[in-house]
Amino acid sequence: MKRQKIIITGIVQGVGFRPFLYNFLRSYQLKGSIQNTGNLGVSLILQSPDGDFDFKSLIGNLKENIPKMAYIEEIRLLPFSNAQHVNFEQLQIIPSNEGIGAGLTLPPDIAMCDRCLQDFIDKSNSPFFQYPFISCAQCGPRFTIMESLPYDRENSMMKNFPFCEECKKIFSNIDDRRFHAQTFGCNSCGPHYFDNINILEPNQKDLPKIIEKMAETIRIGKIVALKGIGGVNLVCRADKEESIQTLRNRKKERKFKPFAVMMPDLETAHKYCEIPKEFEAILTSFRRPIILLKKKDGTLPENIAPGLPNVGVILPYMGLHYQIFEKLGKIPLVFTSGNVSSLPMAIENALIKKQMLNLADEIYLHNRKIHQRCDDSVIRPVLNTPTLIRRSRGYVPEYYKLPFKTDLKSVIAVGAELNSTGAISRGERIFPTQHIGNVRNLDTYEFLENAILNMQHLLKITDSEIDAISRDLHPLFQSSKLALKLLDNFKKPKNGNEEDIKIWPVQHHHAHLVSLMVDNKMTLDREIMAITIDGVGYGSDKQPWGGEILRGNYSTFERVGHLKSIPMVGGDLCAKYPPRMLLCTLMNSDGYKENPEIIDKLSGKLNLTHYFPQGIQEVKYITNQFNQNHDQILSKHPHTSSLGRYLDAISSLFDVSQLRTYRGEPAMRLEGFIWNGTPRNYFDLDQYISGNEILSDQLLWDYTDLLISQPKFERKKEQQDLARSLVTDISKLFARNAIKNADDAGIKEIGVSGGVAYNEIIMQVLKSEIEKKELRFLQHNNIAPGDAGISIGQIASTIAKIKEFSE
Ligand SMILES: [Zn+2]
Ligand SMILES: [Zn+2]
Ligand SMILES: [Zn+2]
Repeated sequence: MKRQKIIITGIVQGVGFRPFLYNFLRSYQLKGSIQNTGNLGVSLILQSPDGDFDFKSLIGNLKENIPKMAYIEEIRLLPFSNAQHVNFEQLQIIPSNEGIGAGLTLPPDIAMCDRCLQDFIDKSNSPFFQYPFISCAQCGPRFTIMESLPYDRENSMMKNFPFCEECKKIFSNIDDRRFHAQTFGCNSCGPHYFDNINILEPNQKDLPKIIEKMAETIRIGKIVALKGIGGVNLVCRADKEESIQTLRNRKKERKFKPFAVMMPDLETAHKYCEIPKEFEAILTSFRRPIILLKKKDGTLPENIAPGLPNVGVILPYMGLHYQIFEKLGKIPLVFTSGNVSSLPMAIENALIKKQMLNLADEIYLHNRKIHQRCDDSVIRPVLNTPTLIRRSRGYVPEYYKLPFKTDLKSVIAVGAELNSTGAISRGERIFPTQHIGNVRNLDTYEFLENAILNMQHLLKITDSEIDAISRDLHPLFQSSKLALKLLDNFKKPKNGNEEDIKIWPVQHHHAHLVSLMVDNKMTLDREIMAITIDGVGYGSDKQPWGGEILRGNYSTFERVGHLKSIPMVGGDLCAKYPPRMLLCTLMNSDGYKENPEIIDKLSGKLNLTHYFPQGIQEVKYITNQFNQNHDQILSKHPHTSSLGRYLDAISSLFDVSQLRTYRGEPAMRLEGFIWNGTPRNYFDLDQYISGNEILSDQLLWDYTDLLISQPKFERKKEQQDLARSLVTDISKLFARNAIKNADDAGIKEIGVSGGVAYNEIIMQVLKSEIEKKELRFLQHNNIAPGDAGISIGQIASTIAKIKEFSE
């Protein structure tokens, strides 16, 4: 007889791992116990009648046969003392215990699997036939419904749905794939949808009628709100311009922001957009994200994603979605987060009802609580790499590995301000929260706090284990206030002494640079050059940065280059009104000083004053500001080096976007406008770099000259070529400046991070320029280049700084 203890860590709970082990080990005639241990993983004690049994080769076979969603990080063989006089009579799954490990054994939410889809469609005698919440040991919600670990039904939102007799039998049947599955339910015992907003006790017999009504409401062009897995979605026809317009009118502030589309299947998705082969696999993966794909001309109404070349596409991921398409046929549906603008999605039924009442014609709720809100995740292909924009359902709570060692137990990061996430580390693992959004009001502030604390709870990190808190450099951000509040909570005497846990600020673009280093698995001794380009981040000089070339490592950075700073008269108004940014850019330029009448010419041509809410008065006020000397302007107005703002100005110049209705809109629409343009070599670019500054306004000035003096540029295609040249040239200038700085410093790697790194055209130019010089081009692979990735950079940088500080 031979006995062995085995600990398996990784994502080994909530993926059907114990039932898999049971069947696998039984086939070797092994006896003993299988146990989930908190967030440590799975613990096995095994006994073989054969004294020579080879447990090592058993492990080899096991690794090759694990369930699809499982991920094994480590398998440890530990001695099991024979002195413990136990003789196992059988193989058993025994009750879980509280184990604490470094990882998190909980997987993200898993889209309905193929075998459940078969049960759902075909097995009319099964209790799961046509059940909207159908799931099994290998699929279904996980992160969104678990309150704590270990992964057991009583720790999940399914605790309110005790198994019926039939489900009990299924749970105990070793030949069933729901054997020991924790969170399934069936038509008679599981959660149910209510009829419209009427809170009647849900009844399974009513379900076909409810679905029929839902589908019919959508079919005739109305809008429904559907509570789903991680939140609420607003749904209507995406093939009818009027339905989309109704939704836009009701959402008021959603005039142009693109809507995602749920396609009934891959085949239908192909009819409406171009899907690169490698993205098919992601679209149909268990994560089921939204992917931004190139629209096929004329197949979807223009108002689905006005002015943009792409549309967000997602495939069904729960039973209900399939049921709706069964009734409706193969038509695309708008599928957008059901939130009131700037607020997080509501997840409690009463609040959903209140918020959706004016947006949806009908509201369909169900009686399962959502423990953690999770939006649909969003990915964009950038240079053929799947690049995360919003990392939520299907991804959270997976972690990133810090590429260097640390003795710190845990660090918390509160992220940036817009499109933000928080994060918490345990040792060398960094766990970002789900997507939070814009942390600007009490609701999002509370969401951020709750999401960080939830992650801390799942990871079983005690307050006294928190070693540091990391925040943005901006002292007035809501997230910076949260850092202070958390500091108060965690500042508890350790061993009778007040522990000096501290808040560590990290500059916004440095955090982007560091997130890029983590993403590219770079060790602590490395240094890179990073082009960090976005809309805005608080600079070390307290000015809004966003077109930066940084030389840096994990702990420090130097700003070696940047776009020429332009005064923003009226501050944020320049971000809201691109013509204001254009006017400031032109007024600031040397070209204007030489040729002041250009503004009048251009204003006349573009009818620019028309786009200022206060008309000519406003234009006069702005132009007057530039009559002061330069220092006076700089002391009165913030000045920005942001590439995002510069793209806004170009967007206004070509009359693509004169009012920003959502973040990034002018730049995104500009990308759409120039998509089919051809860049031409109008200029010798060498004159546009002076010292470490890229002289953006001079470049813009010259193109303006060209635009006005050449009547032949009237045609749209020529305008597109001209605008494309402008975007290409500014990108080339960034590359040249970064290359020169890299050469000077002997650095061989140049990377790109920040929100503008989603721009395919700019990224193409940067990559090709940098690779031409035989330097290595770094881009994001798994961490969002946008501000959602900031929290990861904050943690990694803080750990590096503390390490340096203590050495
Ligand atoms: Zn399944
Ligand atoms: Zn049941
Ligand atoms: Zn940023």
